[in-house]
Amino acid sequence: MKIGILAIQGSIIEHKKMLEKLKVEPVLVKKPEDIDYIEGIILPGGESTTFLTILENRSLFTKLQRRLKEGLPAMGTCAGLILLAKEIENHPEQKSLGILDVIVSRNAYGRQRESFTTSLKIPVLGEKEFECVFIRAPQIVKVGNDVKVQATFDEKPIFVEEKNIIGLTFHPELTEDTRIHEYFLKRCGF
Ligand code: GLN
Repeated sequence: MKIGILAIQGSIIEHKKMLEKLKVEPVLVKKPEDIDYIEGIILPGGESTTFLTILENRSLFTKLQRRLKEGLPAMGTCAGLILLAKEIENHPEQKSLGILDVIVSRNAYGRQRESFTTSLKIPVLGEKEFECVFIRAPQIVKVGNDVKVQATFDEKPIFVEEKNIIGLTFHPELTEDTRIHEYFLKRCGF
């Protein structure tokens, strides 16, 4: 099984290591052809505005959006979630892939130094808490009717799913815990 990692910026290496640990061959997605033969894609954290510029400059935006609409499984973490969202409430207005029916607020916990880690219960992963790393993280401020909220922190969703899409406001690739990547791989049919 070939799982892509959008490899234009951000925490690419960390997601790659996670997939390798789980014996999956990662495909680093850098150009439109790379999207053709993957069976799932991870959109990493980083800076969503930079992602947007590069996605458009390299003609990746439309092709990625089309494959996601056709059902390609995807997991967006932090900036990756922002890219997937239907709407971003910050100003100036920011474009997005518009695939996941949520409204997000960027940098909602404050600046870099307000980044934090906390262990949270995520029922779909079992009893053991998951160490959630939030780095200049967004908040999901509204979810659509078909969006399933799998976990919350401070009453805000931090792990959501809709059809083929998983959105996380934190960074599972920055821990040693592989459970979220395993969960995503199952969704890809692995
Ligand atoms: N603050 C970044 C953004 O708005 C996201 C940060 C991250 O991915 N850790 O794009």
